[in-house]
Amino acid sequence: MKAAVAHQFKQQLEIQDIPVPTITAQEVLVKIHACGVCHTDLHACHGDWPVKPKLPLVPGHEGVGEVVALGDQVTHLKVGDRVGIPWLYSACGQCEHCLSGNENLCLAQQNAGYSVDGSYAEYCKANANYVVKIPANISYRDAAPLFCAGVTTYKALKVSGAKPGHWVAIFGIGGLGHLAVQYAVAMGLRVVAVDTGAEKLQLAKQLGAELCFDFKTDKVVDAVLAATQGAHASICTAVSKAGFEQSYRVIRRGGKCVLVGLPPEEMPLPIFDTVLNGVSVVGSIVGTRQDLVECLEFAANGKIKAQIIDKSLDDINQIFADLAAGEVTGRVVMTIAN
Ligand code: NAD
Ligand code: ZN
Ligand code: ZN
Repeated sequence: MKAAVAHQFKQQLEIQDIPVPTITAQEVLVKIHACGVCHTDLHACHGDWPVKPKLPLVPGHEGVGEVVALGDQVTHLKVGDRVGIPWLYSACGQCEHCLSGNENLCLAQQNAGYSVDGSYAEYCKANANYVVKIPANISYRDAAPLFCAGVTTYKALKVSGAKPGHWVAIFGIGGLGHLAVQYAVAMGLRVVAVDTGAEKLQLAKQLGAELCFDFKTDKVVDAVLAATQGAHASICTAVSKAGFEQSYRVIRRGGKCVLVGLPPEEMPLPIFDTVLNGVSVVGSIVGTRQDLVECLEFAANGKIKAQIIDKSLDDINQIFADLAAGEVTGRVVMTIAN
């Protein structure tokens, strides 16, 4: 099968012919129709984080397609089912996190396109218990970005505790952020969007952001504080330390700063301000299978639609270059089969 493979960190991916994966009793084989390109895939191929991915690696954790083969013990799926294979490729099912419905925190989890091969390929195998079905009225193309960008931002908004009518500041209007704006609006929140360039800020406005600021030309912190008296919550999807610092500074007393982006840097936290202002700083990592079901439901009900740039697997190195340069407005989805 055709696949894009990373052999070494910071090198170009190679388009190669590799064997179709073989499945075990609890796995399914999925013929991949489309796969979104997440900035995480770029971090993976650069070896940016303390925990390194496997090499060689087939990246991709927004793969969607049809089940074409089932392991002997799989009874709840059938050939032809439309599913997605998320970042949370599998978890142990037995630890305190799994048992309390927080399987995204499981220490024994595997991650698609990181610790195991992902969906930048014509076929991907998956643990049958961790694939999630795609509602019938969502196309593969539209579903793909929801399997990471969608569920991650939907979950982060839940974690933020923001209530209808509250202000939420969304930093980074990229693949994740442009969906965060839509989920926030659908939840009745008021959105301030922060990124740079007319294209991304116009997209945010069109998707329902009431206020948009450019981190290169505006005094973002002052502007957000003046317009909102401080946001009740902020969601930072920016791949930049500066964005994180600003997302902390725009929070009102008692508010919550939710960290989502993963630049390989540290964020200094002022103890005095954090204590006196009673603010919370919390990380949010993807979402559970139930979060995914809920986030797909928003799309099935017509509330959410990713802005998609259509590409193919052969374009992957250029897509990575564009992502690194901050030149992708929306989400790139690679069509892999029709
Ligand atoms: P992306 O490249 O599509 O979007 C990032 C956006 O941040 C770009 O539009 C860029 O212009 C903007 N940005 C850069 N500096 C900024 C600043 N100072 N202020 C505001 N915006 C700024 O990337 P993506 O696919 O949306 O992923 C974003 C990040 O989230 C990555 O680090 C990725 O690894 C991480 N991620 C985390 C999770 C999670 O579960 N926590 C899940 C998926 C992705
Ligand atoms: Zn992702
Ligand atoms: Zn577990």
